[in-house]
Amino acid sequence: MAPVLSLLGTAQDGGFPHAGCACAACAAARREPRRARRVACVGLLGAGGRRLMVDATPDFPAQAEALAALGGAPDRLLPDALVLTHAHIGHYLGLALLGREAISSRGLPVYCTRSMAAFLRANRPWAHLEERGEVALHLLAPGAPLEFDGVRVDAFLTPHRGEDTDTLGLEFRGPRRRVVYCSDADYFPAALVARIRDADLALVDGTFYDRDELPHRDIAQVRHPFVRESVVHLAGARGRVLFTHLNHTNALLHPDPARVPALPPGFGVAAEGDVHAL
Ligand SMILES: [Zn+2]
Ligand SMILES: [Zn+2]
Ligand SMILES: [Zn+2]
Repeated sequence: MAPVLSLLGTAQDGGFPHAGCACAACAAARREPRRARRVACVGLLGAGGRRLMVDATPDFPAQAEALAALGGAPDRLLPDALVLTHAHIGHYLGLALLGREAISSRGLPVYCTRSMAAFLRANRPWAHLEERGEVALHLLAPGAPLEFDGVRVDAFLTPHRGEDTDTLGLEFRGPRRRVVYCSDADYFPAALVARIRDADLALVDGTFYDRDELPHRDIAQVRHPFVRESVVHLAGARGRVLFTHLNHTNALLHPDPARVPALPPGFGVAAEGDVHAL
């Protein structure tokens, strides 16, 4: 079986509809559930059927079910391992469900950076998970790839506001294709642009479409690349570039199709449920 990467979620940390928001886009997503998006997450199904989930989001149970169904083993509801990219809430809160109050997993391997592991060990309830043997933390660092069931998973650091931890992007290299996944970055530095341009497929941070979309907040405090500019910076990529981690304010999610900007050829919006061969 060829390994595949499955898109299990494509929204920013607050989800879509966004927690606590009644804007037109969120209202439409509540009315029409097909518009709703889970929090950004990808699942790897390896050549031998092993499953690796990237990030434990607030939507973790539904995403674990989706990955189990994809693997043809709907009763094996937990992934075989997790990678955590960073400690912003959309990316690790689901980990809490592995604890005694809920799943009570046994030694589930969790791969993350040294700073992420230190954060988990220094704070409760996360520290309980390792103390009680519910998870086993393993180091994932740039330059030390993880070999997972026929796929090489390379980690790289992305520039992203690091209140508590650093942030990882990932590159998946299967027998046929190479896919870059970078859900969170304040901007795309030259080395990352080169990596994205050279991939067969890139799933990249598309949080905001443009700089004026958070009128009541200082957007500089939650920096992300703007899609409108990324399509210029990332032009000429070898493979397709799909935007993920979309904020509810992003014009690409507007319920009125006339107000959804068109993207240039080669670019698109990541769709949940899509499966990409590696
Ligand atoms: Zn995020
Ligand atoms: Zn909203
Ligand atoms: Zn983040």
